[in-house]
Amino acid sequence: MKKHNFNAGPSILADEVIDNAAKAILDFNGSGLSLLSISHRTKDFDAVMAEADSLFRELLHIPDNYKIIYMGGGASTFFYNIPANFLNKKAGYVNTGVWSKKAIKEAKHFGQVEVIATSEDRDFTYIPKGFEIPSDLDYLHITSNNTIYGTEYHEDLDSPVPVIADMSSNILSRPIDVTKYAMIYGGAQKNLAPAGVSFAIIREDMLDKVERDLPTMMLFRTQVEKDSMFNTPPVFPIYVLKETLKWLKSIGGVPEIYRRNQEKAALLYDEIDRNSMFRGTVAKEDRSLMNICFVMADGYEDLAPEFLEYTKQHDIVGIKGHRLVGGFRASCYNALPKESVEVLVKCMQDFEQLHKK
Ligand SMILES: *Cc1c(COP(=O)(O)O)cnc(C)c1O
Repeated sequence: MKKHNFNAGPSILADEVIDNAAKAILDFNGSGLSLLSISHRTKDFDAVMAEADSLFRELLHIPDNYKIIYMGGGASTFFYNIPANFLNKKAGYVNTGVWSKKAIKEAKHFGQVEVIATSEDRDFTYIPKGFEIPSDLDYLHITSNNTIYGTEYHEDLDSPVPVIADMSSNILSRPIDVTKYAMIYGGAQKNLAPAGVSFAIIREDMLDKVERDLPTMMLFRTQVEKDSMFNTPPVFPIYVLKETLKWLKSIGGVPEIYRRNQEKAALLYDEIDRNSMFRGTVAKEDRSLMNICFVMADGYEDLAPEFLEYTKQHDIVGIKGHRLVGGFRASCYNALPKESVEVLVKCMQDFEQLHKK
């Protein structure tokens, strides 16, 4: 691929993953059929599902009492499925931005929602800390990485109630202790797959919590008992997800990708802090390794369109900031090579030389 792809989502996938997906589209496992037109109820696809399951477990150290499911509908479907399955009286939510807010809005359809901490007072530029978690909550919901603002929890929370985390944009980017969560979920289109599939890792005992009479498709138990095959699963994105997990394992798993992600983020954040023409937008201790947001420094605001154009000329794609935040957002997901970050850093340095007052 010739472009430096900093898109926030759907986003970059490893070249070899895309190569393998392309081959499988033409001929899946030497079957003479395209991956796009096989039945999901075949031995070959069972093997894809089984391999994805075992790789996910191995990479994240997921214990046996957790089930992994795949569904269509995106992370946004989980925003209402989660309260439907688990919110019987009261749930707690931490509000760290747009995605948290959307999750809160949907939960209110099902019961009482207590926002137990928020960073809205400072435009979601930090992660609230040291908040008390009431012990009478059915669950606590957090957004582990805030894709739009570029903030991230760097530690797994200790909580007296089950923690449910939207990890859409930082799944498998760093080590986590899965046992600290009752459920982890997300859309797969940022770090794992093309758009079209979402994943959830659910602790088994959570499946007994539902008190409502839910439609079959809304009940997590259905997906768990049918191994995500109650209806037709998103065959192609699941295949690509499996290939991404294989690629992650081949390069050294989560410890290695975490090392690379830290290295890439340090390169870019160091330049943001050093370069007189740019500044970061969020609290340093909460900076995301995945979505790195920055703006023009005071006095240079007018040069933003010119910088964007300058990066385009250097084959950089996708760094325009979210419309709510403005400025720039360089999404440095797992598959983004360090070279792409180096090209962006070089652009920032050269731009400074060209325009410094
Ligand atoms: C992208 C994103 C979503 C939305 O995912 P969809 O699959 O489009 O519904 C939710 N939460 C976070 C943190 C995201 O980054």
